[in-house]
Amino acid sequence: MSAVGRDSSRQVPHACRPGCAACCIAPSISSPLPGLPQGKPAGLPCPQLDDKLLCRLFGRPERPACCPGLKPSHEMCGDNRDDALVWLAELEAATRP
Ligand code: SF4
Ligand code: SF4
Repeated sequence: MSAVGRDSSRQVPHACRPGCAACCIAPSISSPLPGLPQGKPAGLPCPQLDDKLLCRLFGRPERPACCPGLKPSHEMCGDNRDDALVWLAELEAATRP
């Protein structure tokens, strides 16, 4: 995650912000998931988000393995949803194969 230049001292535990879901929108997901058999393109809101922007697959085996790896942190989540969307889009661009 340091690939896009955030200060590593900001990588501290952070509570997930209700109503955000930036990390279920900005990143791509290469593995299949229900509703997206080819994976999720970057920037597309995951179809598994419910109307409260919570994951319908939480705790289920269909949830992509990469999802639990995105832990809330100040580095990723920033101070607001727009911060998180920008940072995650930069990370996506920096790690694109
Ligand atoms: S970007 Fe951070 S605050 Fe937003 S949904 Fe993901 S973990 Fe929660
Ligand atoms: S499967 Fe769940 S955790 Fe993963 S991107 Fe979709 S809504 Fe988010």
